[in-house]
Amino acid sequence: MGRWGVLIAAVLAALAAFAAPSAARADSAAVTRCSAAVPDRADPGKWLAAGPRWTCPADFSALSHNAHAVRFRWDGQAGGEAPVMLVSRTAAFESLTIFTRAATGDWQAKTHRFSDIRPTYLERSFAVPLPELGPGADEIVVVVAAPTQAIPLDYMRLASEAPGASQADFAALLLIALVCGLILTPLLFDFVFYRVLREPFILWHGVFVICIALQLTLTAGLFIPFTDMSLGTLRFMTVASFGAMVVASMMFIASFVEKDMLGPRMRRLLLAGAALEIAVTLLHAQGLTVFGPWPARIFYGAGIPAAAIIVAAVYQAWRRGSRYVRYVIIGLTPLFLVAMARVVSFLLPGIPTADFNALFHAGVLIEAIATALGVASRFVQLKRERDEARSEAHTLENLAGQDPLTGLFNRRAIEPRFGELYKAGYETIALIDLDHFKRVNDTLGHAKGDEVLRAAAKAMKTEPHTLAARIGGEEFMLLLQGEDGLERAEHARRAITARVASEVAGLDGPVTASMGVVCVPQGTLPRARFADLSAMADKLLYEAKEQGRNRYRFEKLRGFEPRKRERRRRAA
Ligand code: GH3
Ligand code: MG
Ligand code: MG
Repeated sequence: MGRWGVLIAAVLAALAAFAAPSAARADSAAVTRCSAAVPDRADPGKWLAAGPRWTCPADFSALSHNAHAVRFRWDGQAGGEAPVMLVSRTAAFESLTIFTRAATGDWQAKTHRFSDIRPTYLERSFAVPLPELGPGADEIVVVVAAPTQAIPLDYMRLASEAPGASQADFAALLLIALVCGLILTPLLFDFVFYRVLREPFILWHGVFVICIALQLTLTAGLFIPFTDMSLGTLRFMTVASFGAMVVASMMFIASFVEKDMLGPRMRRLLLAGAALEIAVTLLHAQGLTVFGPWPARIFYGAGIPAAAIIVAAVYQAWRRGSRYVRYVIIGLTPLFLVAMARVVSFLLPGIPTADFNALFHAGVLIEAIATALGVASRFVQLKRERDEARSEAHTLENLAGQDPLTGLFNRRAIEPRFGELYKAGYETIALIDLDHFKRVNDTLGHAKGDEVLRAAAKAMKTEPHTLAARIGGEEFMLLLQGEDGLERAEHARRAITARVASEVAGLDGPVTASMGVVCVPQGTLPRARFADLSAMADKLLYEAKEQGRNRYRFEKLRGFEPRKRERRRRAA
């Protein structure tokens, strides 16, 4: 209960902290903003001199790829501070031209290319200095060429100072820096955890946390004092780190949720979603203006299937009673809502695109706390399981014999306890036999042969979740826990050749091995018998030998086979 209390307090604190400064950041008063589409972006000056028709107040819901103008007018006689810069939010465009009136009444233009504009603090902003305005000036026109999104137009405003200069902005920056530091702390734990348990979800959590910290740093401009980054680079990194964050969260869910709580199809769907996200991120991150608004639309549009996949996966895990998916639900819900709000505001015409930064920051904090707790508690549970398996293996070692030559278990250690081991998740059985081993004995002597056996054993003994036994002269058995049993067995088989080559001198060729692997998922057989399964593995090993050696043959039992066999047995 205490944990949830901490979470709720964090939510409230974050909301309060971030809502206040962002509310204080309002547009300058007494300025009217109008908009117009520019038919020919090659010569906006000519278009402007002809006296275009303006829409007031400004409206950019029908964005065309060519160019759009914003006209600012204010009361020049009222005194007060004259604007000195133009501020807006970043999305890719080609260039921005500011038109001011000279004393003669003619328009003067100053163009800034997107790649030359510098970012400023807070909310993905950029600022461009205004040209010197003459006395009594009361109007400027800004033309944005080839905008890919309405954001720079929607948020364009005149300002007397750059974002980040006011007290309130400074407080907001400080808070964001604090959140950034807070959410990076779990990285230290991830590092330690990963050294103990090589579980991919720990890595994905690390990637996720780094991406979020990058998002905060980039959108708030915390990097500005340290690097002179252009708007193009900034945009690329912001989009790329956002995409990477989505990818990491999908991969995190796929690897974090307990084994039986997500079906294999759902895990594959998460991988497919991650692949899709990578593709659309690569497209959108380029910031190509030639495709107009399409890369952005595709990028935001891909958010819908991505979200659907995440929701489906989380729902399935929850329905199946996953303990750990709760952390994912609490951690991701606020961020998820922000992302959805962004997508909706982007895709729906008629409402300005918004990025809900204050809520995003609050969501980030909640996410960081919830997933860090989840990772820590899953770590503890997995570690306990592994230690239990270890001590089980240890007992095996003590009770039954060890093979004196290689230090591996022997057949007597495995066979009587096979049922127990199988229930503990050792579902994959691999039989490995060295190829043409007699030749080594015959040409180099028995002692050399023994050396080869010891080196081969070392190649098999290194993995956690794997029990290795020597069950005959040069025949070994691996029992593997987990879904990737085949991959790990094959890795061990290949490792034999390398290990023998590096440890045994004077051999006249590589020592290879053949392997037969059976995988019997839990519940496939009413009773998993050592004799049956090792006979199957033996048959596959024999086939691998027949087919030319130095290879493996694999078979995975399916649910319906044993039932059929049982029926046959009963009928007999
Ligand atoms: P393949 O498996 O590829 O068909 O050929 P192979 O030459 O390996 O054939 P086989 O399995 O018949 O040979 C096994 C040999 O292993 C026979 C025996 O000399 C040797 N061997 C058995 N136990 C030991 C041992 O403890 N030390 C040594 N050095 N050799 C052993
Ligand atoms: Mg052999
Ligand atoms: Mg043999």
